[in-house]
This record gives sequence, structure tokens and C-alpha cells, in this order.
Amino acid sequence: MPVPSARAMPVLSRVVGALPATVPFVPPEALERRADRSLTLRLGANESAFGPSARAIAALADAAPRVSWYGDPEGFELRHALAGHHGVAADAIVLGSGIDELLGLIVRAHMNPGDTAVMSAGAYPTFAYHVIGYGGVLERPAYGTAGDTAHYHNDWQALADAAHRTAARLVYLSNPDNPTGSWLDGDAVLALLDALPPGTLLVLDEAYAEFAPAEALPILAADDPRVIRLRTFSKAHGLAGLRVGYAIGAVPLIATFDKIRNHFGMTRLALAAALASLGDVDHVAGVVEAVAAGRRELAALAAHHGLDALPSATNFVAMDLGDSTRAKAVLAALLEREGVFIRTPGVAPLDRLIRVTVGTPPERTAFAEAFGRVLETV
Ligand SMILES: *Cc1c(COP(=O)(O)O)cnc(C)c1O
Repeated sequence: MPVPSARAMPVLSRVVGALPATVPFVPPEALERRADRSLTLRLGANESAFGPSARAIAALADAAPRVSWYGDPEGFELRHALAGHHGVAADAIVLGSGIDELLGLIVRAHMNPGDTAVMSAGAYPTFAYHVIGYGGVLERPAYGTAGDTAHYHNDWQALADAAHRTAARLVYLSNPDNPTGSWLDGDAVLALLDALPPGTLLVLDEAYAEFAPAEALPILAADDPRVIRLRTFSKAHGLAGLRVGYAIGAVPLIATFDKIRNHFGMTRLALAAALASLGDVDHVAGVVEAVAAGRRELAALAAHHGLDALPSATNFVAMDLGDSTRAKAVLAALLEREGVFIRTPGVAPLDRLIRVTVGTPPERTAFAEAFGRVLETV
């Protein structure tokens, strides 16, 4: 007879039980705790170096005394303001705790265990994380390159071909792209959309839309059910710590989120600050301009060291270190010797790149100095 145990480990679901035990996202805070020192420069997560709008900070202060109340689960005011901003119906917008949460809900809504999702090999890892977490399978065509450079870009034809080959439920495209900074023209995005098999949903992650040239943002019919567009307040708006993202799509597609979303997941503070920031057009325009200047400076810094910087339509610049061994060594030396946090993409061949977020002018000077010292020996 089995010995009854009051302390048996509870049984996990088949999908979660089969997942390897990993911590996929090592945050800068953990790096600081491990090294027992604080970072001198935090340039690895593409957070805004230029901070939130003063209006957003004022809105936070105004909302603070009311945090004993839940936020509006319908996010009515913010959704209506966003609807005006994008020229769509408020019911074509759903709010979430960052694009990251919405990606998880999209996977949950559209994929059964064993179904396939397509993304470029080495593209934004959070999408892959959710697909695996719901028992999905990833098909990852390679990025395209330009000539013999490391100017990687999403290959829309390869994504479409992979979707046909695997009868994919979802195709993920970040445009502009993280981690390369590259972008496809809106026409290429539309070509991808038209090339997908019927019933496949294009997950168009536009986290860096504000930094992108207008041609990179396709004009989509509001009732097109083949695509869902994702935006965030984490990058240009400088509100990453509040976690506000949203999806725009055909009304019936957006309505499905109400079945599974965390209705009380948006905080009062986040809703108030995002609304105020949306109204502060000058702040965002100023950030976009400052970031463009910073990108030019980082490209010049790379050139100064004989390195190729990839063209970028984001708030970061990827630099080509030639091979992954050197990229890893530079990353490690920057962290250990200089206390500088940047990242390198985890997947070959992109792992020959380092990705540096655009900092403020003093941060860029400090980075240039640290980078120069490291490159003398690595
Ligand atoms: C930063 C980033 C996100 C995260 O957005 P949140 O709204 O902060 O969750 C999503 N997608 C891409 C491509 C990003 O670079």
C-alpha cells in the first residue's frame, strides 16, 4: 500500500510540467545583486533615457490618493483617447500590462498545444517564451542580410513560406525590429499579410513605432481580421515601469480578449499617466529627436572603432563585433570592469551583435569612454 503523504508535490499541467526550469530574462537588478555592485550605465533594455513626460508625473501625483480604488477595468478614457489618436473605434483597442502581456493573451487565444507560430530566428524572445509556455511549436526562418554585412532584417517572404509550410496560427513580426533595429517598409508588411495562409494572424509588434519613418508603418483597414497591431508606452513615452501597452485590431478580434484578459490588471496610476503622456505630443517628439541624435552618435562611435553599426529605426543601435566570441567578451568586460549593462542577442548569427540603448548625452559620453577602454584589450 502506498504511504499516504500529506506533502506530495502537486501535479503540474502536461504543458508546464514538460517545460525546462529556466529563468529566461535576467534583469539588470539581478546582475547588480550578483556582482554586489550597482551598474554605472543601464543601456540594455531599451528603456527611455529621457524619462516620462512631466504631465505624466503630475497625473501620477493626482491619482495617488485614489489608489485604494481599482482602476477602471474598461480603461474607458485611455481607450477613447487612443481611438482618437489612431482614428479607430474604441472597441478596436484593448489595453494590457505592456505588449508582453498582450502577446501571452494572443498566444493563449489562438494556439492549441502543438500548433505552430512563426518568427525570425533570434527575434523578440518574449513572443517565443509565451508560445513555448502554452505548448506551441516555433518555426524560425533566418533573418535576411544585406550583402556581406550583418545588416539583418526580417525576411517577409521566408516568414510567409514558413507559415504555409507549418499551417501556422500566428506569425510574429516586430517592425521596427528588436534586436536588430532594422525595419521593413509598410508595403513589405502588406505583402506579408497578403501572402499568409487564410486564418493565420499576423502579430505586428510596433513597440518602436514612434521612432520609425512613416513608410515603415503600413496603413491597415480597421476591419482587417488578419492582423493585430501592438503599441506600448514603455519606449518613446518613457513609462516602462508602469506597464501599459495596447493592441489595435478588428472589433471582433479585440472582443475575444474580454474572455481571458485580466480585467483589473491595469492600475489607476498607469491609466492616468498614459492618458497624460498621450496628450504630451511635444514630449514624445522631443524624445524621438534626442534619440535620433543619439543614434547618429553611437554609429559614429562604432565607426571610430572600425565597427559597423546597423541602421536603426528604434531607440537602440546594434553594432557588429564580427563574431559571437568577441561580442560576448565585450559584453562581459563592459559589465564586470565598467558596470555597463548592454545586451547581445542570444541566437546565432545575431549573437555577433551588441545592442546599445541610446542614453542621454552624458550617458553616451560615459559609454564611449568605457567602450574605448574595453576595446583596447578585448
Ligand atoms: C520593449 C519591447 C516590448 C515590450 O513592451 P512592453 O509594453 O513594455 O511589454 C515588446 N516588443 C518589443 C519588440 C520590444 O522591444
